[in-house]
Amino acid sequence: MTKVNPFEDTLGRLKNLTKHCKDPAVKFSETDLVLLSSPKRTLIVNFPVKMKDGTIRVINGYRVQYNDARGPTKGGIRFHPHVDIDEVKALALWMTLKTAVLDLPYGGAKGGITIDTKSTSTDDLERISREFIRQIHNFVGPTKDIPAPDVYTNAQVMAWMLDEYEKIKGEKAPGMLTGKPIELGGSLGRDIATAQGAAYVFREAADAYDLKPNATVAVQGFGNAGMNIAKILAGWGYKIVALSDSKGGIYNDNGFNVEEVNAFKEKNGSLVDFPKAKKVTNEELLLLNVDVLVPAALENQITKENAAKIKAKMILEVANGPVTSEADAILHKNDVVVLPDILTNAGGVTVSYFEWVQNNQGYYWTEQEVLDKLEKKMTAAFKEVHELVKRLDIDHRTAAYIVAINRIIEAEKKRGNISSEEKVK
Ligand code: GLU
Repeated sequence: MTKVNPFEDTLGRLKNLTKHCKDPAVKFSETDLVLLSSPKRTLIVNFPVKMKDGTIRVINGYRVQYNDARGPTKGGIRFHPHVDIDEVKALALWMTLKTAVLDLPYGGAKGGITIDTKSTSTDDLERISREFIRQIHNFVGPTKDIPAPDVYTNAQVMAWMLDEYEKIKGEKAPGMLTGKPIELGGSLGRDIATAQGAAYVFREAADAYDLKPNATVAVQGFGNAGMNIAKILAGWGYKIVALSDSKGGIYNDNGFNVEEVNAFKEKNGSLVDFPKAKKVTNEELLLLNVDVLVPAALENQITKENAAKIKAKMILEVANGPVTSEADAILHKNDVVVLPDILTNAGGVTVSYFEWVQNNQGYYWTEQEVLDKLEKKMTAAFKEVHELVKRLDIDHRTAAYIVAINRIIEAEKKRGNISSEEKVK
């Protein structure tokens, strides 16, 4: 299988947008896009950590602050053995677009540490998390760059990082990151926010495309986002016929009770041996005869190699970057509706924004208040993108990119970083 560089692939997508520049809905030109062709700041740190058993390991960490025209940069930190600079750059660019589609007052960033959490003890993960913050503390903060959880990081990792940061600075600064435990200033609703936000987008799209109420769904990935979206959609009456985790997948055309699968995974470490199910690989899951496919794991799952074989009518991108640009073209030709990551999975960063607002004001909301605000934000963003889809006869990703880049370029122009027609008199 050809390896797609997610950053180069996204730059290609930006270039492709220029064919729409003549439309009045598009407020940027080809030359304006130069500002988005590389990150504003890239931090690469290689730091030794003394592990619990006394050995010393050199850890590679990254933080890419892609664009800050609209506010402090924002985005998660992932722990994964395959993290590299091109992945983190792509993820940081996607965060820049994501915060802009949702009209949050942020730029975009992403961080990563090349580590396998499954073979690393909790004690060692704590040491690594704290040392990473010691490395980058001067470049992050509530008005600079605000991390959050991502793949294989969670509220506990955020707690260690926040604690380390506050010790270094000698002050409390709960808004320096989001996705914290509630006890340290986290927001109610943040834990389910990515899935809940995706569910709101799905509800709007299901309505727009007349999806049948008991449609079948396959979910790839059973982390926080994958497990919760499966739970929510099952609760809404959809039939979850396939699920998977990093070890493999399961299929049952009668549909799964997601709570039961979750309990099984918690007990056994994986869902692959769940009884009363047919085993499928992660690759086979993508090609199942279902109405809706929900990639909720990692990048580059649907490529030019398998895109033409996809049978689903709708793809809900809960993961970041699961579909490559070549695959997008094939899916669009085959009338598959792809609800893009920068819109669909933006519920996480939207509630992160609410968490930061609560930290800044020192006054906290109920879960219902948070979810009501999330619902408004997600449906408004879907409607704005969907309007453009209809108007320009384009796919949802192209429309979401246009909405986002219009806002970013407008902010850059106001700052004087791109020449504009604005006059004082
Ligand atoms: N890691 C999440 C994402 O990819 C959340 C980022 C955040 O909350 O800042 O959107």
